[in-house]
Amino acid sequence: MFRKSQLPDILNFLSKLTFFKIWNFCQLFFSYHYSRIFKKAFHYGMPMTISIEPTTACNLRCPECPSGLRSFTRKTGNLKTDFFRSTIDQLQHKLMYLILYFQGEPYINPQFLDMVAYANKNNIYTITSTNGHFLDDSTLKGL
Ligand code: SF4
Repeated sequence: MFRKSQLPDILNFLSKLTFFKIWNFCQLFFSYHYSRIFKKAFHYGMPMTISIEPTTACNLRCPECPSGLRSFTRKTGNLKTDFFRSTIDQLQHKLMYLILYFQGEPYINPQFLDMVAYANKNNIYTITSTNGHFLDDSTLKGL
């Protein structure tokens, strides 16, 4: 069950659904159950959600986090805006929502709010997570 305070968010999510997004979800749902029932891999449809990391950097040092420990084994740095836009351009008609964080503090990437705006312009519901250290009036209004 959801709380009353979540209603605007739920309406926001629903307002961004389109026939193509729902149809893509149905294809994924069918693929999953077909594969499960017939024990044979069958794949149809595109990802309905993706997680994109705006940056791997963080100002904190939480001990359970590779970003906090500075212990990544992969390349690190800020996501390039061109790559982000090109990914959104390719998937915009299929994505039901975008998770715009993973490890790293999103606000460290100076292009973060532009990325949120680009996803919103392309009718994609976007989720993020922040440690809150970079929030002020102007970033909150931007968000
Ligand atoms: S990304 Fe999150 S969990 Fe990791 S160090 Fe920063 S605040 Fe802590």
